[in-house]
Amino acid sequence: MSASYTAFSVEIDKDGWALFRWDMQDRSMNVITLTVMDELDAMIDQVSQDDAIKGAVIVSAKPGSFTGGADITMIHALKQGMAEDAELSAEDAAAKLLESSSRLSRIYRQLETCGKPFVVAINGTCLGGGTELALAAHGRIMVDDGKARMGLPEVRIGIFPGAGGTQRVMRMTDPQSGLQMLLQGKNLDAAKAKAMGLIDQLVTEEADLVPAAKKMLADGLSAEKPWDRKGYKLSGAAQIYSAAGFQLWPAANALYRKETHDNYPGARAIMKSIYEGLLLPMDQALAVESRYFAAVLQTEEASNMVRTLFVSMQALNKGARRPQGAPSLKLKTVGVVGAGFMGAGIAFVSAKAGLDVVLLDQSAEAADKGKSHSDALMQKAVKRGYASEADREALLARITPTTDYAALAACDLVVEAVFEDRKVKADVIAAIGAELPAHVTLASNTSTLPITSLASHHSDAENFIGIHFFSPVDKMMLVEIIMGEKTGDQALANAMDFVRAIGKTPIVVNDARGFYANRSVMAYLLEAHLLLTEGIPAAMIENLALQAGMPVGPLALTDEIAVDLAWKIVQATKADLGEAAIHPAQEKLLHVMVVEQQRLGRKNGKGFYDYEGRNKRLWPGLAELVPQISDPDLIDQIDRQDIRNRLLVIQALEAARCFEEGVVTDVREADVGSILGFGFAPFTGGTLSYIDTMGAAAFVDLCDRLAEQHGSRFAPNTLLRDLAASDETFYGRFADAPA
Ligand code: NAD
Repeated sequence: MSASYTAFSVEIDKDGWALFRWDMQDRSMNVITLTVMDELDAMIDQVSQDDAIKGAVIVSAKPGSFTGGADITMIHALKQGMAEDAELSAEDAAAKLLESSSRLSRIYRQLETCGKPFVVAINGTCLGGGTELALAAHGRIMVDDGKARMGLPEVRIGIFPGAGGTQRVMRMTDPQSGLQMLLQGKNLDAAKAKAMGLIDQLVTEEADLVPAAKKMLADGLSAEKPWDRKGYKLSGAAQIYSAAGFQLWPAANALYRKETHDNYPGARAIMKSIYEGLLLPMDQALAVESRYFAAVLQTEEASNMVRTLFVSMQALNKGARRPQGAPSLKLKTVGVVGAGFMGAGIAFVSAKAGLDVVLLDQSAEAADKGKSHSDALMQKAVKRGYASEADREALLARITPTTDYAALAACDLVVEAVFEDRKVKADVIAAIGAELPAHVTLASNTSTLPITSLASHHSDAENFIGIHFFSPVDKMMLVEIIMGEKTGDQALANAMDFVRAIGKTPIVVNDARGFYANRSVMAYLLEAHLLLTEGIPAAMIENLALQAGMPVGPLALTDEIAVDLAWKIVQATKADLGEAAIHPAQEKLLHVMVVEQQRLGRKNGKGFYDYEGRNKRLWPGLAELVPQISDPDLIDQIDRQDIRNRLLVIQALEAARCFEEGVVTDVREADVGSILGFGFAPFTGGTLSYIDTMGAAAFVDLCDRLAEQHGSRFAPNTLLRDLAASDETFYGRFADAPA
């Protein structure tokens, strides 16, 4: 029989091995689409029905990647389609969703049980549905070139591996590693995948994959999986009702709760699918997994996370906000002026992306010290096996420390990151400007100074912009690009090209005090500081924030940012905007911490926590400075939900204000920025999705109630009242027409 494919090509050799090469013409990376599913179906039919074919190999023809997994926009559309299919009853809609969302799982099971052996040969990135395809095959070979990765990252965007991933991983590797892989969604390198038993064989060169796969077939690879053989038994703790199982599963559940606070339906479904699936034969186990998958797709958390952390983030990374038609900037060399804490980090991420860096500071010593930061990070990477000694040397060779401004003349873009001082910045900007060719964009990394005022020190204000990084620069994926009044489109395009070249996600914000992210962060810290002064025990504040979904408690975050920096910001706000703009209780608390106690945060080993090496514990002396409720009866009466609400609502409200004021103008940027920039409870999909999901009217009611109880900082803004009155959402009103 013959079949025709568009995403694959097929060759059958004289030994009867069919070789399917996956190569989607219109995509840079293969993804699983409806067409691919149809063709996989046809492929399985062809192999099983054609007597001339004895077995098959699936490879990718895209160099360095097998597949990015299922086309997530398809999942997004699937869910959207269900919601809009008004003809169907809720029950029929759910059944239709189950039918379509479990299709891939059925195809893979068919492949697994078709009677002829399949080998998947992985030449690079292999994610999600691609990994599940490999696990369903009878043999797996992977290239071990330091770059190839396989993994099941679905949980990180609110869903979970629903095409057999949870069941096959848990039957192929030890339960602890399997649980970790599924719940963390981290990718595995080839050696680790082999050690876990998920890969059968490694090869060093991509060119060896197909011969090795055919040899595996020729050596008699069985087309029957262990779990389909009679008498198959799970071993060790995978057998839930066994001594080992009794040890593992209660602890695993506790760990799951500690890590997620049960906020993520995707993670919860992994636990349930595994637990129930391991008690059943494969076909029923897969059916259980499929049902949970369809159920998770219908949750708000999955919709919001897929939208923000996949669809919107991808759009922003691809330059959704880049001015159309602006010529792209081919970056070779960037200048970084100021080799301190931030400048050193910016130099590192630039050099890591392959750019040459001119790193300038006042003294050769300071410039060298900035470069040594890259050395320290690379040494760590080498030690952990993420980079080679040669990588370290090559990266360091790209960074040229200097004190000579003339060296900036060779740069394609320059970022200034000197002291946060108007006079110092003015002098430095003028000195840089004197050396820069006319077309080169100059950016400032300032956190607080208006870009428009800094631009006045540059002869070409149109080519001056803010590029605001977050600390630590190597870990934080968000960058705010700040438009001054006169900043032109080409400068914006250049800044975006730079941010994209270093692999970070840009959001475009307008020039306003605190920009976007820091405004919400300061609101979060303020709320926690006020809670503390109300007598709420510090440990309770920290734990409730984590339960609400924040990755770091607000007191720990104050320490990370530095307590004295928070104090300085409060002082600067008072000086610029007056007494009414700050909260005396917070000012007093920070004064005591910083001025009286010299508790500056992690940087001097003492803040709200005491630090000893990597360990920390809440500072016991805090209760003496700020009385904390200790009577157990009174502690029981503390309204925990009220505190969780306060900690999230104040941040979302600040985001809504930023939106109304035009500081952020695109709902996608507000949401993506809130998760990447300040860790706003990711299961919500971000600050504006949080409000939309609750409904503007309910959110406004909650704000009004909080304002009555805790102060006018909770008073909702006009835009929110307006959305509530007309029963609209941020996405409904603004998704297609940025504010
Ligand atoms: P830092 O004090 O660690 O580093 C500043 C560096 O600038 C020092 O190495 C200093 O020697 C150098 N410098 C000062 N005057 C100079 C001059 N005339 N010529 C050349 N170099 C000079 O400060 P930082 O924390 O890295 O902050 C730098 C900038 O980044 C500030 O504008 C700050 O607001 C901003 N920022 C900081 C953070 C943060 O978390 N620290 C986050 C985002 C943005």
